[in-house]
Amino acid sequence: MVVYDLICRKKHRFEGWFPSAEGYEEQAARKEISCPVCGTAKVIKLLHACAIQTRTKREKEANRPERPKASRRPLTDVETKEMLLHIHHHIVENFEDVGPRFSEEARKISTGNVEERPIHGTATPEERDGLDEDGIPYLLLPKPKLDS
Ligand SMILES: [Zn+2]
Repeated sequence: MVVYDLICRKKHRFEGWFPSAEGYEEQAARKEISCPVCGTAKVIKLLHACAIQTRTKREKEANRPERPKASRRPLTDVETKEMLLHIHHHIVENFEDVGPRFSEEARKISTGNVEERPIHGTATPEERDGLDEDGIPYLLLPKPKLDS
């Protein structure tokens, strides 16, 4: 099973469970994935991942904080656009783009093998599962353009 974070055209966020990545692609191609809130089949995967690595996280073993639950309240269009653009600009200016090597680099930073720094890039759902299992913090963000 794979779990994808999905977002519809109206910015409702939800999780979709699929037998495999191929299963997702097939269902998406047949427009069988619809938003549980508004029913639209215009749904995209949230794939963009970024991480802010901090020194304090090495204390996590002793005092593991609860991972905050993402808000399920649908954002308004304006809120979403502003938030995404703001984050996007901040990331581009301050984060190193590691592209598809995101999970690899996040892991290296986490283990102290490379210099600690903010990075952004992309990760497959499988890679994200691995990061979750190892307690490596990251954030998932939709790419700013939602229209395609
Ligand atoms: Zn919706």
